[in-house]
Amino acid sequence: MKPHSETSLRNRLKRLGGPGLFSVPISTSNLYTPEKRSVLRYLEEGFEKQSDQEPALCAQLADRLRRYHDSEYCVLFSTGFWALVSAIKLKALPGKSEVIIPSLTYRRLADVVFWAGLTPVLVDIDPADLSISPQAIDRNIGAETGLILAVHPIVNCCDVSGILALSKRRGVPVVFDAVESAHETVSGKRIGSFGVGEVFSLHASKLINGLEGGYVCTNDAAFAASLKIFRTGAVVTFPDESHYGLNGLPHPGHAAFALAALDELNKNIDHNRTIYRAYQKQLASLNGIRLLKFDEQEQTSYKNIVVEVQDNFPINRDALCNAMNSESILARKHYSPPLHQKTYSYSVAIREMQQTELAEARYLNLPCGSRVTPQDVSTVCDFIAFAASEPEFFTSPAK
Ligand SMILES: *Cc1c(COP(=O)(O)O)cnc(C)c1O
Repeated sequence: MKPHSETSLRNRLKRLGGPGLFSVPISTSNLYTPEKRSVLRYLEEGFEKQSDQEPALCAQLADRLRRYHDSEYCVLFSTGFWALVSAIKLKALPGKSEVIIPSLTYRRLADVVFWAGLTPVLVDIDPADLSISPQAIDRNIGAETGLILAVHPIVNCCDVSGILALSKRRGVPVVFDAVESAHETVSGKRIGSFGVGEVFSLHASKLINGLEGGYVCTNDAAFAASLKIFRTGAVVTFPDESHYGLNGLPHPGHAAFALAALDELNKNIDHNRTIYRAYQKQLASLNGIRLLKFDEQEQTSYKNIVVEVQDNFPINRDALCNAMNSESILARKHYSPPLHQKTYSYSVAIREMQQTELAEARYLNLPCGSRVTPQDVSTVCDFIAFAASEPEFFTSPAK
């Protein structure tokens, strides 16, 4: 007998008075914890040391990341958020007021632009890869456009060469939010090595866990130097304008954690690949659930599991997500709501959203990361199969 036959799964459901499928809820965050003795060793050896007027552990981490990403410079920040704010502020064309960003993306991306003192202009996605559409960027560049903030999607990468070419052709600089594409390559070239400014996060939910933290990779010496000044709160002076910096310095304790996590990156990714393979195998026979595939011609981290809940699945994405959440399976609606459907206390421009509107109700992020086991994946997939076989159970209110 299968370990989770339909009856045994049914009997465990909280909704039917059972103990629940999971004693600890399972989430979509990576949450990789490096070896404690490795973190302690880094702290022991470097916590009180300084190197070139910065904490030695921060300098060491920046150097490791620079080599890992194959970029000429790497500037560490307290978080990915403030790294993005700083990169936007220092890279946007002087005197311009707008930054083009996708709508189907990280929930705080419009806030990032606001904090840089500029106006976000939300544009549509390309349905093929769910990332910002180069055509939509091109159509929406106007007299006030100061920057393109392109964001890599959760699965695979955005059209890096297309967007770089567009940026060059239209004379508008680009910065990449590369948080979701750490470790990945495009045509064999590592994300982080493209030179213009690529921003990453070291938050616990991301691939490389530094508890908190962020960084910018670039090959532009002047940009790197200005980022280093900006993160201390000092004033950065350009020929036509100057900018007050912010307090965005990284912490050496976080750097120790991230260094230990970097040492164990292969183990982290091997686990993610195992989880991805388990979903691949078990979702293959489920009609109406389409797993977004990683491009395995490239290097990838297998970090997140995203599925499309198609029209032929018996319940819709929202009903499936709610059903899962009430059984401690913390699946998340993919970038929901898209940014153009939120309300703001500052000004936001919204452009055509046809593809975003079509995509926004269909995608779901499934539990994954270092706290999820292949056995958990089986239970999740059994639950989805159960939802498919008894849809009424999930579309009628709970007793
Ligand atoms: C998490 C995330 C950020 C912000 O990073 P923090 O380090 O949490 O501030 C930015 N962009 C994307 C796409 C993210 O997923």
